[in-house]
Amino acid sequence: MQYRIRAHHGMCFSFFQGKGYSGAFTEHMWAMKRKLAQNPEVILLAEADDVCARCPNNRAGVCTSAKKVEHYDTQVLALCGLNCETRIRWEDFESLVEERILAAGRREEICGDCQWSALCN
Ligand code: SF4
Repeated sequence: MQYRIRAHHGMCFSFFQGKGYSGAFTEHMWAMKRKLAQNPEVILLAEADDVCARCPNNRAGVCTSAKKVEHYDTQVLALCGLNCETRIRWEDFESLVEERILAAGRREEICGDCQWSALCN
């Protein structure tokens, strides 16, 4: 199984604790987290993905904050040295995000204006 994952969600999953935009969304986040724990191949994107699929902010495949979150995605890809449409094992992507962004203290410069940012410190 292969999943479509927008790049900035590589950060979100590190901090997700069950809070989200709706009950259906957080349920779906837990389900995705369990699937990703199996270390599947993922295709990295800067557009709506398999997480956005159950989000109330997803309007016909486009996030209501599209411009802002696409910028998060492109920054994550750049810092990880990856491109849109890269296929990579989830754990390899997770390790790059951890090493180059989270442990390097660069998360806030990417998504410090996200409404959930306080949960990710
Ligand atoms: S807020 Fe936007 S980017 Fe985040 S899960 Fe919802 S649709 Fe996707």
